Amino acid sequence: MLNSLVFVHETLLFLYTGFAMSCLFCKIVDGSIPSKSVYEDELCYAFADLHPQAPVHILVAPREHIASMDDTDKSDTALLGHLLWAASEIAREKGLVKGYRLVINTGEDGGQTVDHLHVHLLGGRPLSWPPG
Ligand code: AMP
Ligand code: ZN
Repeated sequence: MLNSLVFVHETLLFLYTGFAMSCLFCKIVDGSIPSKSVYEDELCYAFADLHPQAPVHILVAPREHIASMDDTDKSDTALLGHLLWAASEIAREKGLVKGYRLVINTGEDGGQTVDHLHVHLLGGRPLSWPPG
């Protein structure tokens, strides 16, 4: 019984680690793919979006690999709050006094293209609503 539990645990760990190692934003967070760093702390890493959709377009990603909002649970609430706080801190630092938008695309219908949770910080121009 213990052996099979250890086996299941090691298999899950192997799958998780393997997935995280192939994840673009995990590689950006660990520095193996270059990015323009904007802010970092023990929980998150923020960097400039490669294809900016506004004068300020920054992505705030958790250091930990979480694929999307759909993969979060109650134990992630402090981390999720921290990501939003970090985005607001960057917005203040960038002088976005006229406002900004925070977006978390989730899944196929949500338009998510990179499967590592991230908050988009968009600002520096008026943003229309509703989004496409
Ligand atoms: P989403 O579509 O919400 O998953 O957002 C993914 C974002 O990642 C897009 O805005 C892309 O422009 C951006 N992106 C993709 N590759 C890179 C990269 N290597 N460095 C910075 N941003 C990237
Ligand atoms: Zn990842």
